[in-house]
Amino acid sequence: MAAELKKLSESRDLTRIERIGAHSHIRGLGLDSSFEPRLSSEGMVGQQPARKAAGIILQLIRDGNIAGRAVLLAGQPGTGKTAIAMGIAKSLGQETPFANVSASELFSLEISRTEALTQAFRKAIGVRIKEEAEIIEGEVVEIVIDRPASGSGGAGGGDSKSASKTGKLTMKTTDMETVYELGGKMIEALGKEKVQSGDVIALDKASGKVTKLGRSIGRSRDYDAMGPQTKFIRCPEGELQKRKEVVHCVTLHEIDVINSRTQGFLALFTGDTGEIRAEVREQIDSKVAEWREEGKADIIPGVLFIDEVHMLDIECFSFLNRALENEMAPILVIATNRGITTIRGTNYRSPHGIPADFLDRLLIISTQPYSEEEIGKILDIRCDEEDVEMSKDAKVLLTKIGVETSLRYAIHLITAAALACQKRKGKVVEMVDISRVYQLFLDVKRSTQYLMEYQNQYMF
Ligand code: ATP
Repeated sequence: MAAELKKLSESRDLTRIERIGAHSHIRGLGLDSSFEPRLSSEGMVGQQPARKAAGIILQLIRDGNIAGRAVLLAGQPGTGKTAIAMGIAKSLGQETPFANVSASELFSLEISRTEALTQAFRKAIGVRIKEEAEIIEGEVVEIVIDRPASGSGGAGGGDSKSASKTGKLTMKTTDMETVYELGGKMIEALGKEKVQSGDVIALDKASGKVTKLGRSIGRSRDYDAMGPQTKFIRCPEGELQKRKEVVHCVTLHEIDVINSRTQGFLALFTGDTGEIRAEVREQIDSKVAEWREEGKADIIPGVLFIDEVHMLDIECFSFLNRALENEMAPILVIATNRGITTIRGTNYRSPHGIPADFLDRLLIISTQPYSEEEIGKILDIRCDEEDVEMSKDAKVLLTKIGVETSLRYAIHLITAAALACQKRKGKVVEMVDISRVYQLFLDVKRSTQYLMEYQNQYMF
């Protein structure tokens, strides 16, 4: 599985570089050291009260006081709810997973809603797996294992594949499997203590005690004095310096998929993972618990963001209630733009369409619409992020469009306008490019108006 995890984390890094996501400019919450929001920082602009509140959430998380609670971001579309949730995840560390689902998606999938929610939760739980060491392929490592046997007269010939043979064993190998087979137990027994270049370590088989003897003892007779029960591994000077600790960061969901016989590795890229059996998850949870105990893995609780939370039904809310009590639970951030509405699956109405017992768990933050100046700044940041050069006039026009329509629509026009500019062989996006794409692509207001005006022609 280690090889698959490695492949996975490498390919993910690549896609991360290539993709310019809608929130790729968000690198944190833009707070100063006393958790006060800066005007514009880490890709974040405005929305100060909400960011300040998010900063307090960050402190709660860091102090371990968030368990059993969730955060609700309430505000109009395009007011940065997703951006703030992502900002929380980024502030917790670059490795912190961020999973983003829309509640309406859960109803359109072929899998059950609780399965989809379980997958979403596990996408937001990271596992940092540490591999002890790695040798760059093709490098020669010399391992000396000395097993002076009683009665055998000390050092003799050795078999590189068998650790049970007596006598001295010297081998030069590029095969890490062999190295680990013979040396692994001792390195493992040393636990977290790092084996350095030139170190000599000894394992007393009777007591199981491992000692670091010092550095670079040259010859086997130096070890003989330690007695017949002692095994040695000598790591030659210079070689181990090239060893490094390799850390893979994956999510529990990714481990689930890799180990799910019916799915397999590629399902991670198609997203078509199907249902994952409960036994697979149980096995993985106990394996991960084992790794944690052995110091080989840590859990990184991430952030799970569920948008349009008013679309969840009562069954989903009871799932969330239970899931929040799990010790590995990620930070749950939910969002809605609804006021009082019916709780799906019931005849009751409640604030945000959320049942009372779940409302009780929530810390609620509201987001406010942006000023013209703030919209202009966000568009500026997005132009930088997408490597689009835009004239001052064009930016003013785009900002006006953002105010009149929506921030998200204006953001979409950046890439389209850059293509229009490329087509006329321009280098800098001008007003003409903005107006061109504004005419080509309608915003919601114009498209509904258009449909209403021509409704009669469409309904024949
Ligand atoms: P919806 O309710 O429709 O899901 P939302 O409130 O989640 O909308 P976002 O998707 O976060 O809104 O915002 C729309 C776009 O504007 C995104 O590209 C987002 O990264 C960007 N954005 C929003 N707020 C900010 C901000 N304060 N600073 C920088 N960028 C922002």
